[in-house]
Amino acid sequence: MPVETVSQAELEQQRLYMQKVRSVFHIKQSPPLAYVHSYGCQQNVSDGERIKGMLSEMGYLFTDDTANADFILFNTCAVRENAVERVFGNVGALKHLKKKNPDLIIAVCGCMVQQEQTAKRLKTTFPFVDIIFGTHVLHKFPELLFTEIFEGGRIFEIPDSDGVIAEGIPVARDSTFKASVPIMYGCNNFCTYCVVPYVRGRERSRSPEDVISEVRSLVESGCKDILLLGQNVNSYGKGTDTDFPELLTRLDGLEGEFRIEFMTSHPKDCTHRLIDVIADSDKICRHLHLPVQCGSNRILRAMNRHYTRESYLELVDYARSKIPDLNLTTDIIVGFPGEQREDFEQTLDLMEQVCFDSAFTFIYSPRTGTKASEMPDPVSSEEKGKWFRELLEVQTRCGSKCYEKYVGKTVTVLCDGKGRTDDRYFTGKSRQNIIVDFDGSESDIGNFVDVKITKALGWALIGEKQDPK
Ligand code: SAH
Ligand code: SF4
Repeated sequence: MPVETVSQAELEQQRLYMQKVRSVFHIKQSPPLAYVHSYGCQQNVSDGERIKGMLSEMGYLFTDDTANADFILFNTCAVRENAVERVFGNVGALKHLKKKNPDLIIAVCGCMVQQEQTAKRLKTTFPFVDIIFGTHVLHKFPELLFTEIFEGGRIFEIPDSDGVIAEGIPVARDSTFKASVPIMYGCNNFCTYCVVPYVRGRERSRSPEDVISEVRSLVESGCKDILLLGQNVNSYGKGTDTDFPELLTRLDGLEGEFRIEFMTSHPKDCTHRLIDVIADSDKICRHLHLPVQCGSNRILRAMNRHYTRESYLELVDYARSKIPDLNLTTDIIVGFPGEQREDFEQTLDLMEQVCFDSAFTFIYSPRTGTKASEMPDPVSSEEKGKWFRELLEVQTRCGSKCYEKYVGKTVTVLCDGKGRTDDRYFTGKSRQNIIVDFDGSESDIGNFVDVKITKALGWALIGEKQDPK
């Protein structure tokens, strides 16, 4: 089925709504202030930058303090229960602000809204929330806000859709030298634990021309770090005349001094050809985030992941043989329904064998509507907690071992601000996408700097700035 692209006429209409809102604020003395908070993954952060882009076009400035805001928006995440509960807590805390300032407009959008029972709970628990809209109507935000400002009442816009592609929405990026660029939306994989395919719709790829022209103009305006986003970038390109390795090759060939990162790679679609492209490239980061989730074939099957422990290990061997300085990271879920001690030990064993540079580890969280949420889950949460701590121990040891290897080596860092380990330090990321703190200065921010590593922490490297050659 062809992907539904939002028409130029519809986008033009939204631009008119933005102008109308702007013209009203224009006659007021001070511009209105917006507070926007995005929870969860990079895709959500990227959506948040588009919402901010539209608000900016409508004349809003931004504040970090909800108490000063005229408009508050929470862009939510539904991937695990604790993310959902955090949003409920934070939205609930806005009640007193609305009481003090009845003109305050409060909106909630994002993945939580796309789940029927959560949307219902939001609507009924928080009568003071004015606008609730889903992930498929981001481009209609100007119209929703316009209607709220001029007509009031509560607005719910949550279409049940496979999703659309909307090009040309303005973006207000948080950085001038780092940018994320979505290359695809949605997911077709239906891993049995995961809510994403239900709340983000079917997989749809932007055209390579749109992606390349966005990256080219970012680089021309001084951007040095481009993060390509998709739930499974390795399946990029369906319905276009290209695929992910080809897209990367074309981006790598663009003029300019910049880096390309991407996330996330699904192991089932990660080919040797993709690894060869990374190995042969000038600009692609030496970083592969390859979520394995679990080391037991029985559980991988139950998760519907479509690869085995053996095929994963083969892929890792190939990647490390082609890219010796590869930073390999992963995601692990502990306590999937039906997982037994033997399965978990297979995960520990795989972690020891691979020795990941770092890992995001999660305790399984049941999500309504997913297949796994209906599977028997006899292991107690105490037991799962114990396994989780064991896993962390193994990862802490492996991560330190990987980072130790950098001591004495010089890496190139894109400096992005003040240090995280010490006020005197500045920080950035190496081409392996590892955090490096070093003795830099304000003038390094936004520039590439060579740093000789003197010390490895579990999650970052510390080093000394080297004079340019
Ligand atoms: N599309 C990406 C990841 C999306 S969600 C991929 O396939 O790799 C990010 C991570 O959250 C997943 O890799 C998984 O480890 C974790 N996750 C997703 N659903 C979860 C659930 N129900 N409980 C616990 N962790 C979950
Ligand atoms: Fe979720 Fe699997 Fe899709 Fe990743 S690939 S978003 S884990 S369903």
